[in-house]
Amino acid sequence: MLGKRHNVLAGAIEGGGTKFVCAVGSSPHNLSWTEFPTGDNPIRVLAQVTDWLNEQQRERGALQAIGIGSFGPLDLHPGSPTYGYITSTPKPGWRNTDVMGAVRRAFPEIPIGFDTDVNAAALGEYFWGNTSGLSDFVYVTIGTGIGAGGVAGRQLIHGLVHPEMGHMLLPRVHGDTFAGVCPYHGACWEGLCSGPALLKRSGMLAEALPPEHEAWALETQYIAYAVANIACMLSPQRVIIGGGVGNAGRLGQNQFFRLIREKTRAALSGYIASPALCEEIGDYIVPPHLGDNAGICGALALAQIALNDS
Ligand code: ADP
Ligand code: ZN
Repeated sequence: MLGKRHNVLAGAIEGGGTKFVCAVGSSPHNLSWTEFPTGDNPIRVLAQVTDWLNEQQRERGALQAIGIGSFGPLDLHPGSPTYGYITSTPKPGWRNTDVMGAVRRAFPEIPIGFDTDVNAAALGEYFWGNTSGLSDFVYVTIGTGIGAGGVAGRQLIHGLVHPEMGHMLLPRVHGDTFAGVCPYHGACWEGLCSGPALLKRSGMLAEALPPEHEAWALETQYIAYAVANIACMLSPQRVIIGGGVGNAGRLGQNQFFRLIREKTRAALSGYIASPALCEEIGDYIVPPHLGDNAGICGALALAQIALNDS
C-alpha cells in the first residue's frame, strides 16, 4: 500500500537517460538540488551523486531515507540477486548496473526506495499534485521515449517486471506509413509518438513544429488510442501526461490536451459508463501539477514511503 508520507529530511535521485537529478529536503518547497550528466560511466555518476548527498548531509543534517526513481528496465523484485539493478538497457555503459547497491554502500544505515522514474512521478503527483486521494491512476511521460507507471488499488504497479506501456501496439491511422523509431517494434506507441519519432516524421524538433502540421494531428490521435487502451485495461481514475513533448511546443499545451481528450472520447465511443470519460474528460487527462519536477519530487516520495517499510 502507498502508506503515509513522513515529512523528514531525505535524499532523492532521479536517474534519467540524459541527466541524474539529486535533491535533499522534506517537501517540494525546501529542496536543494543539483544534476550530473548521465554519460556512459555509471560508477562515476553514482559516485558524484552519493558524494553530493553526503555533502548535503553535512550541511543540512542526517538523511532519514533515500528514494531512487530511474530509467529502466529495472529489477524491482526484493530477493532477486539483481534487485535494484538497471538490467537490459541499450544505453551504452549502463547494462546490468547495480544502482541501488552503489547508494546502499554509501548510506548503509537508512531505508532506500527504488522504482521506475514514472512510478516515482506518479507518486510525486499523489503526494503533492494531481492525484491525491485517488486509488488508481497512471502517469505517462512523452519525451525521448515514452514511459508510464502508476498505482492500481493503492499499490504501485510492478507485476512481472514493471509496466512498459510505451511499447503498446496501436491501430494505424489510415494512410500513415511512417515506420516508427522503436528499435524493437518500429511503430509501437514510443516508435510513433516520442520526441525522436516526431523529429523523424516531420524533420523538425517537436518544439518547433507548427501547430497546423499534420504530425500534431497524428501525434494526438495515437496518444488518444493509447489513453483509451489504458482506460480499458487499468480503469484508472486519472491519466497524467508529462514529459518534453507534453509541453507541446508551438501547438500549446491547452490545444494538445484538448485534441487528446476529444480523440480519446471519440475512440471510446461512450462505451465506458463514466462521466469521467465523457463530459468530465477535462479532469481525466491532465498535465502534471508538478510539471517537470514530478520525477524528482516522486523520488523524494519514494524515500518517505521507504520509511514505512523499514
Ligand atoms: P527525457 O525524455 O530525456 O527525460 P524530455 O522529457 O525533456 O527528456 O523530452 C525530450 C524530448 O521532448 C525531445 O525529443 C524534445 O524535442 C521534446 N521537447 C522538449 N521541449 C519541448 C517542447 N516545449 N515542446 C515539444 N517538445 C519538446
Ligand atoms: Zn517499442
